[in-house]
Amino acid sequence: MKIVIARMNHETNTFSPIPTPLAAFDPQWDEAARSNQKGALTAMGAFLDIAEGIAAEIVTPLAAWANPSAAVAADAYTLMCDAIVRAVGQGCDAIMLDLHGAMVAENADDGEGALLERIRQVAPDTPMTVALDLHGNVTQKMVAHADIIVSFKTYPHIDMYETGEHAGRLLLDLLARRAHPVIGWRQIPLLSATLTSNTSASAMQRAVQAAQQAEQEPGILAVSVLAGFPLSDFRDAGMSVVVVADGDAALADTVAERIARRMWEERVDFVYDSLPLAQSLAQARERSRGPGTGPVLLLDHSDNVMSGGTCNTMDVLEAALAAGLEGIAVGPISDPEAVAQMIAAGLDAQVTLAVGNKVPLTQQGITKVPPVLTGRVAAISDGRFTVTGPIYTGSTIQMGRSVLFDIGAARIVVTEERVEPYDTGVFTSLGLDPAQQSFLILKSRMYCRPVFVPISRGLVECDSDSGGPTSANLKLFPIAKVRRPIYPLDADMDW
Ligand SMILES: [Zn+2]
Repeated sequence: MKIVIARMNHETNTFSPIPTPLAAFDPQWDEAARSNQKGALTAMGAFLDIAEGIAAEIVTPLAAWANPSAAVAADAYTLMCDAIVRAVGQGCDAIMLDLHGAMVAENADDGEGALLERIRQVAPDTPMTVALDLHGNVTQKMVAHADIIVSFKTYPHIDMYETGEHAGRLLLDLLARRAHPVIGWRQIPLLSATLTSNTSASAMQRAVQAAQQAEQEPGILAVSVLAGFPLSDFRDAGMSVVVVADGDAALADTVAERIARRMWEERVDFVYDSLPLAQSLAQARERSRGPGTGPVLLLDHSDNVMSGGTCNTMDVLEAALAAGLEGIAVGPISDPEAVAQMIAAGLDAQVTLAVGNKVPLTQQGITKVPPVLTGRVAAISDGRFTVTGPIYTGSTIQMGRSVLFDIGAARIVVTEERVEPYDTGVFTSLGLDPAQQSFLILKSRMYCRPVFVPISRGLVECDSDSGGPTSANLKLFPIAKVRRPIYPLDADMDW
């Protein structure tokens, strides 16, 4: 038994100004791919354990993952796909793929679908299972070419390994002829805002519960409810349901239809209405006078690194300063130029310089003006710290050279690299205790919560009025390629 196992993961924000060359993936090839993923809590980590469990010969052409950013460079996409297709073409009995589902490449709008199509050209009948992210945009090609598709059921994603285990186990059942997986699929004409895909709240939680219940029904092998990723601007962006049934295509179809209809009926709950920033800040001020201890979190979901953000926009800080808030800590703002200027000035120096708003949001047609700020260089570090929080615990974060810039009302962590603040280390590595602040501005919508919510007295979600690269308000993006009609862009549509 020879199994090809590979991982190629990217959530493409086609509006992001951050390019996605091959280096962004830090691709690991062949044996390095296997050792990179062995023991990892990813779908590929589970695939390796399952394949080893049956003493299969394992071929691992690729393990590659990049932070969300713009469309994948054509040469990078082709090179990575070539490696997988070549390995399959050399002959194998089964294929296990750990994909995202929302990859757009410069030379392939449907990145995963095009890969699966190429694989089928060299291995038309080889059993193939695919694990996807909950934010995958499922397409006709993906459904047509995979035998099995299973996606995460959690956001924040904490069931990557379990999803791989599920998808891998079904593949073993298929190989042993214990099961005959067939796929039912519904694409819902619904672009959900990522903030509404939290699986422990609201309509997405109910969708996941419906999927889990359906998995208990006789003849059902897997049910996935996918939120999709609205900022991958291509025909098939949006929500979908994928059902894997045992030999009964009509059953798979019926269950997919039932769950999809139910999600459609709750469509209003998958839309996010951003408040004007001034209103969000008024709420934050009120919350800071309320019960509890610790800072009020201002979650800037218009610019999140882990959705394709620049980590460079200044809207929320500027609005907070304009509203007269004090005791603010912000972190991080990525601005290598400002870091170099402040390090050159030296510790304790008084400086006046432009910080942030320097990366034009070309695809959105937005250019912001860098604010000129005056303050003191309060701390300098190499920006390395070890994660102590529950996400990626023990891993090392490298923010690049970093500076704590004290402008009086706010203290700003300015870094060379783009880093989503999912650990208190972004502040403590520069000697700042986040629990002692009145307000924390965090460029994160979800990943910061397990760490920062427990030390806070509350949170307020903040969008940018003029738009950021990851805003929840879809009206701020020139979405052009998605199929129409689609809700909420076509608010009056019926389905
Ligand atoms: Zn995701």
